[in-house]
Amino acid sequence: MFKVNEDYLNLRGSYLFSTIAKKVAAYKEENPGKDIISLGIGDVTRPLCPVIIKALHDATDEMSKQETFRGYAPDLGYEFLRSAVAENDYRKRGCNVDKDEIFISDGAKSDSGNIQEIFSKDNRVAVCDPVYPVYVDTNVMAGRTGEFDEEKMQWKNVIYMPCTRENGFSPDIPDNTPDIIYICSPNNPTGTAMKKDQLQKWVDYANEKKAVIIFDAAYEAYISEDDVPHSIYECEGARTCAIELHSFSKNAGFTGVRLGYTVIPKDLKDEKGNMLHSLWARRHGTKYNGAPYIQQRAGEAVYSEKGQQEIRGLVSYYMENAKTILSGLKECGYEVYGGVNAPYIWLKTPEGMSSWDFFDRMLTGANVVGTPGSGFGPSGEGYFRLTAFGTHENTKEALERIRRLG
Ligand SMILES: *Cc1c(COP(=O)(O)O)cnc(C)c1O
Repeated sequence: MFKVNEDYLNLRGSYLFSTIAKKVAAYKEENPGKDIISLGIGDVTRPLCPVIIKALHDATDEMSKQETFRGYAPDLGYEFLRSAVAENDYRKRGCNVDKDEIFISDGAKSDSGNIQEIFSKDNRVAVCDPVYPVYVDTNVMAGRTGEFDEEKMQWKNVIYMPCTRENGFSPDIPDNTPDIIYICSPNNPTGTAMKKDQLQKWVDYANEKKAVIIFDAAYEAYISEDDVPHSIYECEGARTCAIELHSFSKNAGFTGVRLGYTVIPKDLKDEKGNMLHSLWARRHGTKYNGAPYIQQRAGEAVYSEKGQQEIRGLVSYYMENAKTILSGLKECGYEVYGGVNAPYIWLKTPEGMSSWDFFDRMLTGANVVGTPGSGFGPSGEGYFRLTAFGTHENTKEALERIRRLG
């Protein structure tokens, strides 16, 4: 009789989004005809830019002709895309990343989940709290997290690093030393971003402790402030301690197209001199057959002059919503964070309300749906996330309703 992988049985249900969906459905049933606006979405809503559509069409045409047909893509990605990434995302920013250190993939969710496979099971993992749930769940699947402590709402072997208004949403160095540190900046869900000196502190710490940082740069394109780094390799010493994850989902609207990349510098080695780069290359070659040619051509188009112009328009569209939300909430007297370098607004619930009580108040009082902060980790309690991925019209209307709610 076969046995299942029991580490998977430790996973906790997707409590957050299913509970939200249930609550919204129940409310709709009791109040038919109510127009509910969701500012809870973590997905883009605008169509792909013209330059991307053209690249997709052209690449499809190539696939239809004998002379230009392509089969399997190279495991690590086509040269044309790796060169475009190396040039635009790194060399132009003064970062030393070679095209051989860039691994093209189908997106940052898969990579952020799979990357832990190249590390020993007994590594100690540290995450920010609140956190993107994928980092923790994939370590649960790998049997690295121990048991769940129902009281603290934490996994026993995971180091949680609170990110709250008290520390400006930038984690403090933890008491226990981690081996693997996940950092996402600009952050989902808090919408805040680390300054260069804050990130440098982590790079120095990781090098000192021989830990590795897994840096998720999915929201890099939303950065508007000068002292916020776009890449961890802007920090000195990052080549010996950091892996960086990128996605085309949030900057170019590829959530349904699928494309991303991961950087592993060749200088990143364990104490025996084993290169993480070789292990990831081997893993990629064995378990992954390459991102599609058509998508990689679309990715290349993102870096063209016209592509850059068009995707800046896309990001500005969402960031105008962020401004609407930020200024609207401030006028109502809410304490708000984020929304300047990220499409997420993180608000402190008033009068010590719990995240879920505030969720109910927004749903029933304003017919607006957001995401309770406690769903992203224990330190998210007392906070609430709104996203800027809606339309201008819906976002304005939602804020008007919140204003009327007072
Ligand atoms: C949206 C998001 C990603 C992107 O994932 P893809 O698989 O590339 O679509 C990665 N990390 C975080 C924190 C995100 O919110």
